[in-house]
Amino acid sequence: MIQTILIVEDDKSICHFVGQALEYNGYEVVIAETARQAKAIFLSQPPVLVLLDLGLPDEDGMTLLETMKTLHPEIPVIVVSARIWEEEKVKALDMGADDYVVKPFGMSELMARVRTAIRHAYETGSGGHLRDADIFTCDGLVLDVPHHRVTLDGEEIHFTAHEFQILEQLMRNKGKVLTYAWLIRKIWGTYISTDNQILRVNMANIRKKLKENPASPRFIQTELGVGYRMIDEG
Ligand code: CA
Repeated sequence: MIQTILIVEDDKSICHFVGQALEYNGYEVVIAETARQAKAIFLSQPPVLVLLDLGLPDEDGMTLLETMKTLHPEIPVIVVSARIWEEEKVKALDMGADDYVVKPFGMSELMARVRTAIRHAYETGSGGHLRDADIFTCDGLVLDVPHHRVTLDGEEIHFTAHEFQILEQLMRNKGKVLTYAWLIRKIWGTYISTDNQILRVNMANIRKKLKENPASPRFIQTELGVGYRMIDEG
């Protein structure tokens, strides 16, 4: 089955080189240079994924993101932005963007993000509900939800209830960045920005137990000022 990717971008040279790389990787590409075109294509031929530039000539990309996520929440959107403000990345992710890349980006990085987002969308099914898998694995790490058990390279490790829940969310969303606010809401129910500290403390404990090397993590990457991402080895 041919998978169509919608590129929403007004910069022709970016459209050209991203489009070529996607086609080389077997995707079909449709380009929209304005938000108006993007909406028309999105409705008439829903793509498998959207690459969305935030700086569009006729509408704020953030507003378009909101429209797309209202119409088709199951279609993954990767935000492509020249702006590097952390606030904006966080806002886009909290508004439902599935990932983001900052210009200039490497093609192999972009392709990996595209594959992860599409696979994740398939795994979670339409409607964006996570499949209720019970056991998650990542490299030598195994998380068994019903037995509340974690093993690393075959050795059992004890985690507190909160640490376990954080790790579970990261493993359920492997390859995807989870924002501080999203994680905190998921684990503790509400979010106040000063709560980041409690998440950081829990994360530090998790990393210590996983014997993570901060210089080159095996499992959990920090997206500075944004959140955390479980490394997707696939
Ligand atoms: Ca632009």
